[in-house]
Amino acid sequence: MALKLFNTLSRSVQEFAPLDSAGKKVGMYCCGPTVYDFAHIGNWRTFVFADLVRRTLEFSGYAVQHVMNITDIEDKIIKRVRENKTTLREFTGKFETAFLDDLKALGCREPHVKPHATEYIAEIIALIEKLIARGIAYQASDGSVYFSITKYQGCGCNYGQLLKLNFDGMRAGERVSADEYEKESVADFALWKARVPDDGDIFWPSPFGEGRPGWHIECSAMSMKVLGESFDLHLGGEDLKFPHHEDEIAQSEGATGKPFVKFWLHGAHLLVEGKKMSKSLGNFFTLRDLLAKGFTGREVRYLLLTAHYRETFNFTLDGLAGAKTALARIDECVGKLREIGRDALPRVQADPQVNPTNLLANFTAAISDDLNISAAWGVVFEWVRETNKRLADNSLSSTDAAANLAAWEKIDSVLGISVKTETEIPAEILALAEARTAAKQAKDFKRADAIRDELKSKGWVIEDSPKGIKLKKM
Ligand code: AMP
Ligand code: ZN
Repeated sequence: MALKLFNTLSRSVQEFAPLDSAGKKVGMYCCGPTVYDFAHIGNWRTFVFADLVRRTLEFSGYAVQHVMNITDIEDKIIKRVRENKTTLREFTGKFETAFLDDLKALGCREPHVKPHATEYIAEIIALIEKLIARGIAYQASDGSVYFSITKYQGCGCNYGQLLKLNFDGMRAGERVSADEYEKESVADFALWKARVPDDGDIFWPSPFGEGRPGWHIECSAMSMKVLGESFDLHLGGEDLKFPHHEDEIAQSEGATGKPFVKFWLHGAHLLVEGKKMSKSLGNFFTLRDLLAKGFTGREVRYLLLTAHYRETFNFTLDGLAGAKTALARIDECVGKLREIGRDALPRVQADPQVNPTNLLANFTAAISDDLNISAAWGVVFEWVRETNKRLADNSLSSTDAAANLAAWEKIDSVLGISVKTETEIPAEILALAEARTAAKQAKDFKRADAIRDELKSKGWVIEDSPKGIKLKKM
């Protein structure tokens, strides 16, 4: 089933197709954390959303190269480093480690590449030089290098691809040097910030003088270096559309003359108890705060995955308590299926009445429809209800249970919420066990025995029982 996603670039739901002519490889870049503090639950909504996109692409058969940068040099970081009288590396390293621990606790697959801005200074400088050479960037009297919006537009390029921008208040050459700014200030933005006393010892030499990169150019340089000048998907929270992502497009397309990204995906924001998070309102939660209250990473993950990514989500502690109950229902059902189905081989033969294939087909239809997660959970809980009924009246054979489990495991490769309690049986061992069953059925006992010996040499014992076969690790 074709995967459809809402592309901010076209403001519409489009069928996803990668740039790869073989239709297999997908390059995906998600703007990563600015490591100046612990990530809050709003940030986590965006990163769990990115994980869902990656898992859905993999579920759909694509080979994903997932890149998430670590912003380890930026205005807020410099301010905090100075306030804390520490070094840049020591300061950002601590929050990066915490971030990666939390990412794991939330069951997110680790990105394949995690480039650090400070390790890409040469690429950043090269990109700025390219823009200067093309007449789109210039060094101002303050020593900083800026991106010229009017020169960019003069090349026939479009500034305002993700948002409709109001250029009325814009005066040619007006400049903004801060990394974050509002829509009202459509203005030339900083690519390279000349060293100022407040930067302390945080600066790099460059052909434009000592200084440091602007936030936006970091992502253009890192994403293009790792994924190429044009790639498939770029993700982030909706607040990043402007200026960050708009500026990334301008810098990248201004330098290469090629389309930068095919699909832009933006996750809506999270509110806590109906309000914007703020420390003074006492509704500001990091993952650590929630773990300290006795919740688990998977409960938080589940709750963050209950709402569609393009809808504002209201996070509440009551909701988190509800997540516990919902997960317990799934755990109980899957636990029973494991008890009954553990020994059944082969795993693929389903009782048409149980129909796990339909479960998979219905789930696939839901998730492929622009990640329609509410419909996907609807399919899962309908299946739990139905399975519980069959478990209660003892009408589920071990083969049925195994087939259900196989379907659930596929679904959980997208949701990532199941607890893995058993030793996973490697595919190679399962294949051997199935070959032995087939040999026995064909009355080729010599071959069946040889396969049993081969399993033994690989550390697995196979036992026959009236219910079927049992595989045990030696
Ligand atoms: P930052 O570390 O500030 O660069 O943010 C990391 C990611 O979190 C970005 O993609 C932001 O768009 C996203 N983000 C920030 N606040 C929220 C929020 N309240 N809800 C959802 N995503 C957010
Ligand atoms: Zn970025």
